[in-house]
Amino acid sequence: MKNITLLGATGSIGKSTLSVVDQHNDKFNIFALSANTNWEAMLELCHQYQPNYVVMTNEKAAEKLQAALNNDTQVLSGEQALCDIAVHQQTDYVMAAIVGAAGMASALAAAKAGKRIMLANKESLVLAGDIFMDAVKHSGAELIPVDSEHSAIFQCLQGGRSGLSKIQLTASGGPFLHTPLKELQSITPEEACAHPNWSMGRKISVDSATMMNKGLEVIEAYYLFSLKPEQIDVVMHPQSIIHSSVYYNDGSTLSQLGNPDMRSVISYAMAYPDRISSGVSPLDLTDNSPLEFYKPDLEKFACLRLAFEALKQGGNAMGTINAANEVAVDAFLNQTIGFLDIPHVIEQTLTQTQHVVLNNLDDIITSDQEARNLASQIVAEYA
Ligand code: NAD
Ligand code: MG
Repeated sequence: MKNITLLGATGSIGKSTLSVVDQHNDKFNIFALSANTNWEAMLELCHQYQPNYVVMTNEKAAEKLQAALNNDTQVLSGEQALCDIAVHQQTDYVMAAIVGAAGMASALAAAKAGKRIMLANKESLVLAGDIFMDAVKHSGAELIPVDSEHSAIFQCLQGGRSGLSKIQLTASGGPFLHTPLKELQSITPEEACAHPNWSMGRKISVDSATMMNKGLEVIEAYYLFSLKPEQIDVVMHPQSIIHSSVYYNDGSTLSQLGNPDMRSVISYAMAYPDRISSGVSPLDLTDNSPLEFYKPDLEKFACLRLAFEALKQGGNAMGTINAANEVAVDAFLNQTIGFLDIPHVIEQTLTQTQHVVLNNLDDIITSDQEARNLASQIVAEYA
């Protein structure tokens, strides 16, 4: 029996993780859960899973949950508590599924503690890739990607990486793949969140619509698989059936395919190196034909271009675009700025930020905060 700490339990990845756990009660036990503010949803989860610990990051939400609970679950609050349940001696596996930079510290704590980290929080690697990968190496942690593209590459590489020439991340293009650039400014949050293939949280849904999600994934792949930036390629594939591919120097290409449902990815991370059922229906290729592929349009999807630029710049550039993106997406979801202002805010933040090398976690946190402040000022000019 493996004890799981599930960080971000009330989110989209959190729910899919619980759905896999439900199918394998003999193998996995929910040891600890976390959420930000939604204590009512957490109360239901507590009744169902009887975890030893629950963290509500928000203190008020923790108080309300504690008052409503009548079992032995210990309710904690605050960011340090997230790290505490991630490194707890009784925890075997940590699902890092908090959204945004808020998920970094707890994912990193799990890495330092030598846990199996099932990493959905790609922002951790974008912000602190070098430190994160060092922590994994030194602690002997197992890092298993929970992102469909990176899981695909990870699965393709199980046979080794001899002759690897490049990897290719597939991108659905989100809801606006065929929408002309000039029509994008008037897009509403609801339209941006209506992803054609994947059901996800609102932030990553907007990231998919701008293709910043793919940009963050390029950086995630760079760290996860120790590649050079020029070995990472992106292809548009609207059906989201091929999840990503590895190209070899003998002309071979390996791809991983499946229906777009994160439970395949999550069950693989939980059972690795074995496979277990996930509840995802088997793929029928004839249901999805034709499979289409296009080159990405970097003018329309400026966020993808900016992410490649930040990766090449290195230092604080990657954390800067991540912070600016979080601020801009939040402003877009609150209808303060338009859809096409998102890449503008990110580009201006990147251009106005002094390029520095980051040596430690304090540097990363300071740089993240500075980028957020600057991006907020820029957003205020657009609003
Ligand atoms: P979501 O918005 O549905 O859920 C986010 C979770 O994080 C919730 O449980 C919420 O309570 C918690 N949370 C939010 N802000 C927090 C804060 N400040 N402090 C602590 N907890 C906080 O998001 P999601 O779609 O499940 O995505 C989670 C992560 O997984 C993201 O990093 C995303 O990029 C990644 N991811 C998601 C998918 C997907 O299909 N949803 C696929 C690949 C990767
Ligand atoms: Mg992905």
